[in-house]
Amino acid sequence: MNGGLGDDITSEIAIVGGGIIGICAAACLAETGRPVTLFDRTGICEETSSGNAAAFAFSDVLPLAQKGMMRNLPKWVADPLGPLSIPPAYLPKLAPWLWRFWRAGAPDKYETALAAQASMMKLAETEWSGLMQRSGTRHMLHEDGSLELYESEAEFHASLPGWAARDRFGIGYRHVEGTHLAELQPGLSPRFTKGTFVPGWKTVSDPKQLGKALWAYAAGLGARFEQAGVDSIEASADGTSLKLADGSRRMATQIIIAAGAWSHLLAKTIGDRFPLETERGYNTTLPSSAFDVKRQLIFSGHGFVITPLSTGLRIGGAVELGGIERPPNYARSKALLAKAGRFLPGLDASDGREWMGYRPSLPDSLPAIGKAPGAQGIVYAFGHGHLGLTQAAATGGLVRDLILGKAPAIDLSPFSPNRF
Ligand SMILES: Cc1cc2nc3c(=O)[nH]c(=O)nc-3n(C[C@H](O)[C@H](O)[C@H](O)COP(=O)(O)OP(=O)(O)OC[C@H]3O[C@@H](n4cnc5c(N)ncnc54)[C@H](O)[C@@H]3O)c2cc1C
Repeated sequence: MNGGLGDDITSEIAIVGGGIIGICAAACLAETGRPVTLFDRTGICEETSSGNAAAFAFSDVLPLAQKGMMRNLPKWVADPLGPLSIPPAYLPKLAPWLWRFWRAGAPDKYETALAAQASMMKLAETEWSGLMQRSGTRHMLHEDGSLELYESEAEFHASLPGWAARDRFGIGYRHVEGTHLAELQPGLSPRFTKGTFVPGWKTVSDPKQLGKALWAYAAGLGARFEQAGVDSIEASADGTSLKLADGSRRMATQIIIAAGAWSHLLAKTIGDRFPLETERGYNTTLPSSAFDVKRQLIFSGHGFVITPLSTGLRIGGAVELGGIERPPNYARSKALLAKAGRFLPGLDASDGREWMGYRPSLPDSLPAIGKAPGAQGIVYAFGHGHLGLTQAAATGGLVRDLILGKAPAIDLSPFSPNRF
């Protein structure tokens, strides 16, 4: 559909990126009556936001960057199918990002990121509740918590400092074992001796369907979609514009860059540079009949989760720091599926659909939300890494406030696009 901006129209807000971040920004702005056009080269909720693990991970406040993580680097590079892999040929390109990631794990920086993430998560929960209510998508929410699983006392004990950090932010959880564990998930392999139940963790029935339903809500309020690739952004004293892949141009008073793992390429066209990498993730979605999974199961030691969706049973996660150009390596989906078969004896692993998505990740585990340092009229909203679904409604609300010139609901300085 082509309902886009003409060259002579300068009163509109343009959003680049029809993933969950762009969709939520469009919905929040359309609610205020502002004219919005969203541009995406593939469609609405067709990329990373379509196939993720569907969690509203409000308690997931711990930044990934920790000093200890880097000790695992040799192991990661050596095991191409492990929870975190780095193709050796990509290592030289990745090195500057890894260096920033390592520095972000310094205790003071880690604490700042933890507090920022906790404030964002609090807002995320409130904003999702409001947006789902207003958009009529509340029925897509599953409030059955999550169950994190451990295979040994040592693994359980290693998790305790992380839970203690969550105590500081009032996040509820309960360690379980024996019959309590078996009740929360019948049929688990006995190799899992302990678990942690997090009641406040939520999932959605299917992330792609949620994205499309939210877009329908935004479109009902007047938001428009134009299917087009955006080649560059232009900003001058005369205004801002998008140059599309077909060579045509669209004017807009404000432009929001919410292009996920590709956002840095657009930012570069106006002179802003971001150390954006992609943590590629893999999964397989089986028919729902594959196993009766009661709630999201988290196997942190193996870097993957199992989520019961209305559209199937999704098994996957893991991280591959491999950039945006390398073809997918579906051996990774298969490796996770094989593990899931051992963890849930009796799992029917047939008829699965494999998928890979690009988590857009900045080295300090926080997104970039704010006005462009390099140009007037441009707002950035990307880099949500593992938490883009969880933080999308909050990001939409924050972007709306930035565009309308209102004070944001939380301190945005830790998320500043200027911080790199
Ligand atoms: C395996 C996996 C599991 C995950 N599980 C969860 C989870 O349970 N909970 C959670 O909160 N998060 C999860 N995530 C992370 C989450 O999926 C992402 O953070 C989120 O989808 C990012 O959304 P986005 O809108 O920024 O990007 P995307 O969904 O990738 O959207 C970006 C859009 O921009 C478009 N685009 C890019 N460049 C251009 C251009 N130049 N012109 C036009 N269009 C362009 C693309 O076509 C795309 O549609 C998971 C990710 C993976 C990979």
